[in-house]
Amino acid sequence: MGKQVLVVGLGRFGAAVARTLYGMGDEVLAIDIDSQLVQSIADEVSHAVTADATDPDALRQLGVGDFDTAVVAIGSNVQASILTTLNLRECGCRYIIAKAVTTQHAKILERVGADRVVFPEYETGVRVAHTLTARAVLDYLDLGPGYGIAEIRLPSSFVGKTLDELELSERHKLTLIAVVRGNEVLLHPRRDLRLAAGNILVVAGRDSDLEALRD
Ligand code: ATP
Repeated sequence: MGKQVLVVGLGRFGAAVARTLYGMGDEVLAIDIDSQLVQSIADEVSHAVTADATDPDALRQLGVGDFDTAVVAIGSNVQASILTTLNLRECGCRYIIAKAVTTQHAKILERVGADRVVFPEYETGVRVAHTLTARAVLDYLDLGPGYGIAEIRLPSSFVGKTLDELELSERHKLTLIAVVRGNEVLLHPRRDLRLAAGNILVVAGRDSDLEALRD
């Protein structure tokens, strides 16, 4: 059975979180102070309710303490985001993820009870920048300063070689996570797998070593 997730704030970020989780089989309660936004998502989540999440009584009436996870997707109204996070913590929500717009905002969210803080605009900016600096990098996940996981289009010099011949970890200092062949994802691929044009490598390592793989 899916999880029970509460999503507060149905802007672009919150609505995308709510629709995706519902599509993946979770029970999603979506809340916004704006009734039009609530109506527009009503058919794509389990329950959609118009409420002011800065009001602890309104949240308690909705039984938010029973939810496994709450996502606070209010960004630009910093005061509402902080009060909502605090209210959810006090109502007994087990795991709270909150969206921040500045590092100061993030610090306050952690102090009032957020278990995880995300910066969607900043994180997307980092990913897009990495895919621009190396055209072969299709997607990028930041692991911390100077390290990441990248999806890399197979460089032409690798076509026709086996993983054994490439010596990715020894010569390129990269850890291979998967090879993607069309719709097929090969986790822990065999060392004798021969690579073909169009294959995608999912590799982890230093940014400089990842960028060195570009064609
Ligand atoms: P996005 O970038 O995700 O589109 P945004 O930055 O444009 O969002 P925000 O100000 O972060 O917009 O607000 C996101 C949503 O949170 C809005 O739909 C807003 O109506 C809702 N919201 C703001 N305050 C409250 C509140 N007190 N209770 C419930 N929802 C709220």
